[in-house]
Amino acid sequence: PLLGETIGENLRRTVERVPGRDALVVRAQGYRATYRQLWNATTEFARGLMALGVKAGDRVGIWSPNRFEWVVIQYATARVGAVLVNINPAYKTAELEYALTQSQVSVLFLARRFRQSDYVGMLDEVRGRCSELRLALTLDDDWGRVLEMGQDVPAEELEAREKALQFDDPINIQYTSGTTGFPKGATLSHHNVLNNGFFIGEGLRLTDADRVCIPVPFYHCFGMVLGNLACTTHGAAMIIPGEAYEPRLVLETVTAEKCTALYGVPTMFIGELDLPDFDTFDLGSLRTGIMAGSPCPVEVMKKVIARMNMREVTICYGMTETSPVSTQSSTTDALEKRVGTVGRVHPHVEIKIVSPDTGAVVPRGERGELCTRGYSVMIGYWNDAAATAAAIDETGWMHTGDLATMDDDGYVNIVGRIKDMIIRGGENIYPREVEEFLHTHPAVSEAQVIGVPSLKYGEEVMAWVRKKPGATITDAELTAFCTGKIATYKIPRFWKFVDEFPMTVTGKVQKFRMRELAIAELGIEAASA
Ligand code: ATP
Ligand code: MG
Repeated sequence: PLLGETIGENLRRTVERVPGRDALVVRAQGYRATYRQLWNATTEFARGLMALGVKAGDRVGIWSPNRFEWVVIQYATARVGAVLVNINPAYKTAELEYALTQSQVSVLFLARRFRQSDYVGMLDEVRGRCSELRLALTLDDDWGRVLEMGQDVPAEELEAREKALQFDDPINIQYTSGTTGFPKGATLSHHNVLNNGFFIGEGLRLTDADRVCIPVPFYHCFGMVLGNLACTTHGAAMIIPGEAYEPRLVLETVTAEKCTALYGVPTMFIGELDLPDFDTFDLGSLRTGIMAGSPCPVEVMKKVIARMNMREVTICYGMTETSPVSTQSSTTDALEKRVGTVGRVHPHVEIKIVSPDTGAVVPRGERGELCTRGYSVMIGYWNDAAATAAAIDETGWMHTGDLATMDDDGYVNIVGRIKDMIIRGGENIYPREVEEFLHTHPAVSEAQVIGVPSLKYGEEVMAWVRKKPGATITDAELTAFCTGKIATYKIPRFWKFVDEFPMTVTGKVQKFRMRELAIAELGIEAASA
């Protein structure tokens, strides 16, 4: 149904349908806008962008946590045909400089600060090296001025600009999370993200009666497409708890705003379920939601369904490069299919599981690399033809680097990442399997398993464990717990108890950082084990 539409056209249709419904509520800013009001705000800002001299195809950066201005800028840039460059709020100077120069941002909008980070100061440090950057404007000081300037741009000029847009124009450069290394800039079109957002919303059975709590950041596809675009294609309300993620704030928001859907990565749901006063929040309005981004332990999923009342929760699997979702579970899937799988292939895309060695499709049930093809595959990595060619083959298949299985009914299970697989003495160990097992221990709140170098075995298994609040447990007890229940070679040889894991701002555990830290800590011991 969205074929040929641009993001602006689609928003306009929603506004015509449900002008008076809530579109965006940002509690931390006291901001509430109906669809009509959001539309007007994007129109004013789009004219402001034209007054600033932003041309179609220009890269416009946004460096801000979740604020209403983020959403306005996203739609305004799409309406003038600019390419929005999402900049991770957690970036520091080196990463900021990389994103600005790699995507040649000419106009940057930034918050003045976020948490302890002084964005203006950081930008000052790198600005001299960002030769394409001609304007940097803060949301806090310059917003009103841009709107004022826009008043001089005739509405017809904006209309003419919008008429010239094509649905397959690039509108967005999204850097990947940096879970496995340096972030890569995926270039996406209106068509890519709009359709993906629409089908995600269909998967959740969203309507204009839904109020979706979005604690995940807009800069990431989870916030921008699963959150924002799934809502606006369906006339649902986006409810934003705050700038920074905080479990208590999320549950307060769901309670106060009577949210019907809640999003998060598994770690977020774990944090919310672990709140000591969890039972004082009223989650009775919740119906559905999305858990995505990293593997979700079955035990966590069961609790989310039972204790958070999210009986129609779905799991999505995807990656920035595929706009992002490729598989989603259905709200009506039986529990045993819903837990432990990431659902089935999304409408209008294809997936296949191939042997990483031969490239041949593996028999159902066997592990291999998941590949995906269809409308949702990115245009390419920005200014990186070599990386694009390495990821997307001549027949259009995107190689995800993820290991998966598919059962006879088409349900997909993500087993891990090729890069994270542990090879110990010639045996393949999938960290996910060991993590799932550790999660069945009552004292374990979260477990993450990595491989560390070993002279004898090539790699050894190491588990990092975050205990439940108040729980006591030792590595000897955990080893005993594993013994006889999982194969001896899979039992972690090293244990580390932690309060937190190295994470991306989207809440994904960075195993490459864990490995670096573990190697620094274990040093010779692991290497000579
Ligand atoms: P980088 O590519 O920079 O290392 P990243 O791959 O984490 O970072 P994203 O594009 O944000 O960046 O995340 C996509 C990846 O997240 C997928 O390739 C997959 O490994 C993982 N993932 C996403 N959803 C799920 C899920 N439901 N279950 C398991 N893993 C998931
Ligand atoms: Mg990736």
